[in-house]
Amino acid sequence: MTSKEKIELILSELKQVSHLEIYQKTSDLKRFSKDFFDYSPILANELKDCLADIVVRPISEEAIINVARICNKYSTPLTLRGSGTGNYGQSVPLNGGVVLVMSGLKKIKNFDSKSGEITVESGCLLRDINDELIKHGRQLRLLPSTWRSASIGGFIAGGSGGIGSVRWGFLRDPGHLQSLEIITTEDSPRKIELNANNSEALNHAYGTNGIITALTLTTAPSVQWQQIVVDCFDWNQAVDLLNKFNRAALELYLATLLEKEIVNCLPHWSGKPSGKHRILLLVAPDGVSTVERLAKSAGANFEDLGSENLKAGTGLRELSWNHTTLHMRGVDPDWTYLQMLLPQPESEMMQKLKSEWGSNLLWHLECVRQNGVQRIASLPLVKWQGEEALNQLISQCIDLGAVIFNPHTITVEDGGLGVIDSDQVQAKSNYDPKGILNPGKLKGWNIKGN
Ligand SMILES: Cc1cc2nc3c(=O)[nH]c(=O)nc-3n(C[C@H](O)[C@H](O)[C@H](O)COP(=O)(O)OP(=O)(O)OC[C@H]3O[C@@H](n4cnc5c(N)ncnc54)[C@H](O)[C@@H]3O)c2cc1C
Repeated sequence: MTSKEKIELILSELKQVSHLEIYQKTSDLKRFSKDFFDYSPILANELKDCLADIVVRPISEEAIINVARICNKYSTPLTLRGSGTGNYGQSVPLNGGVVLVMSGLKKIKNFDSKSGEITVESGCLLRDINDELIKHGRQLRLLPSTWRSASIGGFIAGGSGGIGSVRWGFLRDPGHLQSLEIITTEDSPRKIELNANNSEALNHAYGTNGIITALTLTTAPSVQWQQIVVDCFDWNQAVDLLNKFNRAALELYLATLLEKEIVNCLPHWSGKPSGKHRILLLVAPDGVSTVERLAKSAGANFEDLGSENLKAGTGLRELSWNHTTLHMRGVDPDWTYLQMLLPQPESEMMQKLKSEWGSNLLWHLECVRQNGVQRIASLPLVKWQGEEALNQLISQCIDLGAVIFNPHTITVEDGGLGVIDSDQVQAKSNYDPKGILNPGKLKGWNIKGN
C-alpha cells in the first residue's frame, strides 16, 4: 500500500468517528503543523517542510479513543497539539501523519475549596483557568508569558515555568501536578488515571507517552500584584539589587532584569526608556515599601505603576520570559536567544561574555527558585551569526559554569532535561508501545532502536 492509499484509508475511518472535526485544506495542514520554532533559525530550517497529512479536533474523549485506535491500526504518527505556542517544534509532526488538536476539551471539571486544587480538561486555556480560580480567591502558581493563548495540557507537556517561577520553581517540581487522566495508544486504547507519582513521567514529555485529557493542579491564594519598575545606571549594581529582591522577605511573582538596549526596543508598557537597565517586578502590596527602600538605598529609580490590569494584555508580565524575545524579534527578526541557569556569582560570567560578544549579546535575567534555592536564570538575546557562532557561545557559557537549556533542539532531553529519564521511556513502552506518539522527540526511545 502506498502512503497516499494509507492516508485515504485512515481518512475514511476518521470520517466515521462522531464528535470529530477533520481539517484537510493545505492552509489548515500548514497552520496546525507549525509552532513558534522560528525563534530558532536552526529549527526554522530543520522543520520548515514538516506537514501533517490530516488534522483532527475531537470534542469528546470517545472521539480521542477512536482516533488513537485508528492511528494505532495503521501505525501512523499521532502528534498532539494544544495552542501551538511551543518554541522547539514540540507540536510539529516530524513524519506527517495525524495532528490531534486538543482545544475541544476545555471543561473546568472541579474546584476543591478545601485544598484549592483544580481539575480541568487539558485543552483549557491558562487564562480561563485563572479567571475561574480568581472567583474562588485563588490563582495559578506558574504561567508561561503566553498564558492568554496557551493550553494547560501544552504547558504541562511542553512548558517548564515562567511567571511565578521566582516563588514556585518549575512545573516538574513535586507538588504542582497532582494527577492526570490519559488515553493510551495501545491496540485497544484505554483511559486511565495516574496519581501524582505516576504522572511525573508524562510531565514535560512533549506528548510522547500519553494523551492527557484532564489533570489536577495545586494553586495559590490570589494576590493583587503590584507592578514596580526599578531603573539602574550600572549593570552590576542592577544584578546586585535583583539578587537582593530575590532573597528578601518579599512575595514576588516576577523579577526580570533587562539590559537598557532591550528596554529601548520594548513597547512602553513599563514606562518610557530612561537610558538605564530596568528591573520589572510583580510584588504583593505589603512588599512595595521594602522594594522602594532597597531601590532607593542603592541609588536606583523606583516607580510604582500600581495594580495589574489582567484584561489589558499590556502589563509587565507581557514583557517578561520569552515575550521579551518576541518583542525584540518584532524589531529585528535576526534576534534569537538562549536559555540558561547562571553560575553564582553571576556578574563575572556575564561581563566576560559581554566583552567578547558586545552588542550581539543582550542580557535578560529572570529570578527563579531552582531546587528550593533562589537563583538567576537568563534568556539572553543573541544576534544570529550562524550555527557555528551559536555553538561557540553555548560552549563558552558551559565552560563559565552556566547550565544550558538549549532552545535550538527538538528532543525532550536536549532541550531541557539534559539526561534521558528512564521513567519517561518506560511510560512510552507502557502507554504507546508502537511509538506512534510524536515520533522523534524522545531521545531515550529513539536510542532504544525504536
Ligand atoms: C512568546 C512566547 C513566550 C513563551 N513563554 C514561555 C514561558 O514563560 N514558559 C514556558 O514554559 N513556555 C513558554 N513559551 C512556550 C509555550 O508558549 C508554553 O510552553 C505553552 O504552555 C505551550 O502550550 P500550548 O498549548 O501552546 O502547547 P503546544 O505548543 O501546542 O504543545 C506543547 C507540547 O505539548 C504537547 N501536548 C499538547 N497538548 C497535549 C496533551 N493534551 N497531552 C499530551 N501532550 C500534549 C504537544 O505535543 C507538544 O509537544 C513561550 C512561547 C512563546 C512563543
